[in-house]
Amino acid sequence: MGDLRVKVLGHASVRLDIGDKIIYVDPYSEVHDFTGDPKADLILITHNHYDHYDEKAFSEIETPDTTFIVSANVGPVDDRYIVLANDQFCTWEGIQITAVESYNVNRRNPSGELFHPRGVGNGYVVDFDGFKVYLAGDTEPIPEMQELPKIDLAFLPKNLPYTMTDEEFLKAANLIKPKCLYAYHYFEIDVPKLKKDLDPAIELLN
Ligand code: ZN
Ligand code: ZN
Repeated sequence: MGDLRVKVLGHASVRLDIGDKIIYVDPYSEVHDFTGDPKADLILITHNHYDHYDEKAFSEIETPDTTFIVSANVGPVDDRYIVLANDQFCTWEGIQITAVESYNVNRRNPSGELFHPRGVGNGYVVDFDGFKVYLAGDTEPIPEMQELPKIDLAFLPKNLPYTMTDEEFLKAANLIKPKCLYAYHYFEIDVPKLKKDLDPAIELLN
């Protein structure tokens, strides 16, 4: 498929370029100016929160031919949209995209509701002819992470109150054991501190 080029755009926004295809994940205009960026062939959306589903960002990168792969709570906005529930997958341009679970266990808003209830949002495993990228979405460490296939590159969130503490981030990373790892969706990061307790087989790319 050619080289995979990865651009980390801030918060949970990532761009994955493979061959002549441009894939955006959760493009968010508050953290990156998409004006003049290459048009999207595919946009993956993990869930419907404003920092993940951002129509202002779409307006800069979408075309009539852009495919959107989205969670059930985003829904089929128009006929460019493919909705995947947890555990469903589809193949787009030879790339297999599997929606996996992504949810809170403990973290709740002041009304007592989980920020991300189970079964609502998606993480994604994107399989580029065997090279697997895992984008966890807004999640805590969850048992389903043990069932992931061997991951080459993982994006795990790290911030409170919505996702993981540093300790939980490390627990999830050491469980999944990706070859390479990015922390994303963070407000602050202490890379040397994270590296201290990270399995030395995992390369932290932040
Ligand atoms: Zn969220
Ligand atoms: Zn978020």
